[in-house]
Amino acid sequence: MIIVISGPGGVGKGTIVKRLIASDPRLELSRSWTTRPRRPGEAADAYHFVDRETFERHIDNGGFLEWAEFLGNLYGTPLPDPTNRGADDRDLVLEIDVQGARQIKERFPDALLFFVDAPSVEEQRQRLLARGDDPAHVQKRIEKATEEREASCDLGAILVINDDLEAAVAQLRALIDAARCKSE
Ligand code: 5GP
Repeated sequence: MIIVISGPGGVGKGTIVKRLIASDPRLELSRSWTTRPRRPGEAADAYHFVDRETFERHIDNGGFLEWAEFLGNLYGTPLPDPTNRGADDRDLVLEIDVQGARQIKERFPDALLFFVDAPSVEEQRQRLLARGDDPAHVQKRIEKATEEREASCDLGAILVINDDLEAAVAQLRALIDAARCKSE
């Protein structure tokens, strides 16, 4: 099963995804490629950081399951490694934007789509500033979030509000378990 987790920047998606992956060995997180520079304090393996030329060459070689441009940077999900043993029993988790979610939904109609959102726009703004995003960039991300909410609704993604971290993770786990039951 492919599980897609989208949501605006600063809603705590990354933390939720980390908890989710740590709590279930059947879940495997896909590591995206990006042309965005690494943020101060961001883990070196948060993404496969590459320059635009390398990214575009990988597009031309058919190396991505999906890719999209988000606020001026390219992001993409690499094709899963076919030599990864045990991958058949695993569910692949993609933490990607809604443009990517749309491409995955077209390619894999059974994919499970979630949209994680903050309890309020003000909360989202505070979280973005707290992680060190540039204030001008924060405003762009907030505006972008309105578009993303609408697009995720069109896609039929399941909305999860990250008000309480543990509750949000538990909700996602329950929905994933239910989807597994149905597909097995
Ligand atoms: P950030 O710069 O905050 O790490 O990510 C910006 C946006 O790009 C987020 O919405 C994030 O989910 C999305 N993103 C990360 N990796 C991918 C990817 O591989 N494909 C797509 N389409 N979006 C991605």
